[in-house]
Amino acid sequence: MATTYSGLYLEIRRTLKAAGSIAADLSARELVCVSSGKTKEALFRDGSLYVPMEIEARTRELVQRHLDGEPVAYIIGEWEFYGLTLAVSPSVLIPRPDTETLVDKAVEYLRTLEACRVLDLCAGCGCVGLAIASQVPEIKIVLGDISDAALKLCSRNIWSNSFSGRVVPVRMDALENPDRRIGLFQCIVCNPPYIASGEIAGLDVSVRDYEPHLALDGGADGLEFYRAIAGKWRNALYPGGRIFFEVGIDQSIPVGRILRENGFGEIESMEDRNGVRRVVTAIRYPDI
Ligand code: GLN
Repeated sequence: MATTYSGLYLEIRRTLKAAGSIAADLSARELVCVSSGKTKEALFRDGSLYVPMEIEARTRELVQRHLDGEPVAYIIGEWEFYGLTLAVSPSVLIPRPDTETLVDKAVEYLRTLEACRVLDLCAGCGCVGLAIASQVPEIKIVLGDISDAALKLCSRNIWSNSFSGRVVPVRMDALENPDRRIGLFQCIVCNPPYIASGEIAGLDVSVRDYEPHLALDGGADGLEFYRAIAGKWRNALYPGGRIFFEVGIDQSIPVGRILRENGFGEIESMEDRNGVRRVVTAIRYPDI
């Protein structure tokens, strides 16, 4: 039987709630919007109109994909982070609310500086660097990633959020020494892969089966990127320059130690909104 847009939305919301979805209302709305090509304003405006059969069928297909574990962000191809709408694909992690803490702390620091250059290493879709750019107007940002697919998304997100000229994507491998031509930065922000290889199999299906392992796998103990970056990328910071790492649960102490062993000081860690020590920051001490 034919259904209206609001009927379809409510039914999907109920199905998703029953399946245990945490943001059933948001997910239901996004899925109906993408299958019908409507903005959320248009969806509410057209709530009492009947849904054409092919749109209803398409919506149900998308809902089924989500029920099978595929994240809504990949189904709709975009996600919100720090007030920005960003294109995402299965080549990059979906920006997480936890990562907003990394942005908060870096922004707090960068607002105390004059115009400067910031490197977002392991940028993925560019969420951290772009969120910083949106908060601190004078700075210039390089988004670095090893994946060409991620860099393409970065370019798209730079353009769609009007940051061309201030933010550039550059291919780089966080596990290797930086190319000198990228120059020096006052600040590096980095949310590297930090899940221990052996723990990936136990992650939630929506992460394990859909998100890129390249962006999750932090090696045998999850700390491989922190070691490489503290050791090799120190030279891409000016002396006195500051690094901000996002870290996984229980990693703040070992990451602090890695930084100390590699010539960093003033090491501090900060909690995210759930009380998890989520960010570790330190400055590059001058060479002696
Ligand atoms: N926070 C992510 C997760 O737990 C992992 C992010 C990362 O490895 N940088 O799924």
